[in-house]
Amino acid sequence: MKRWEGRQRRIGLTGGIASGKSSVGRFLEQKGIPVLDADLYALEALAPGTPATREVLERYGLKVQSELSEGLDRAALGSIVFNDPQERTWLEAQLHPLVRQRFDQELQTHFGERVVALMIPLLFEAGLESLCSEVWVVYCSPTQQRRRLITRNQLTPKEAEQRIGAQWPMDRKTELADFVIQNEGFPLDWTTQVRELLSATPPLD
Ligand code: ADP
Repeated sequence: MKRWEGRQRRIGLTGGIASGKSSVGRFLEQKGIPVLDADLYALEALAPGTPATREVLERYGLKVQSELSEGLDRAALGSIVFNDPQERTWLEAQLHPLVRQRFDQELQTHFGERVVALMIPLLFEAGLESLCSEVWVVYCSPTQQRRRLITRNQLTPKEAEQRIGAQWPMDRKTELADFVIQNEGFPLDWTTQVRELLSATPPLD
């Protein structure tokens, strides 16, 4: 698929769930690169009182209403959509246009920057390659991915499988990548590779 061809370097950062995107994103942020985060925009879209939250409450009712706050019980919502692909598709259809809109806004805000990063777990699934001038896929092995996900999110093996199964397999993503960031080694082993990739940013003229 076509990439964005403007003057700004727009790095799309994707990969599998728990493959290491946020770790790389934090590093880019430390280097002064604005990191636009799709997960954050999806979270905002589901904040208390938003139209998307109202839609979700209308569809699922009290099951997804938080007992502690005005908002949604995210764990309950997660368990619905990760158990039922049709419901996941429905929720994604609500969220993707809103996330896309936020990217357009934020890209405008950051238009003067030489480099920006777009951290998008479902970049390929949602067809957002055309927002990016290049796409980096952060890769680790499926076994490592499962282990890291279970540890980070305190999931059962079954829950981890459901979440991994809700995305394209990582191999399919690496095939579509412009660059594959290897994260099979120790944490931060990839920094040399990322520094090298960043050093290719053309100077401003
Ligand atoms: P993502 O943003 O892709 O979901 P994270 O960057 O949050 O992934 O990484 C997933 C989890 O795996 C985190 O708990 C992180 O600390 C851990 N992790 C990341 N890279 C490594 C690595 N090379 N070795 C071991 N654990 C790692």
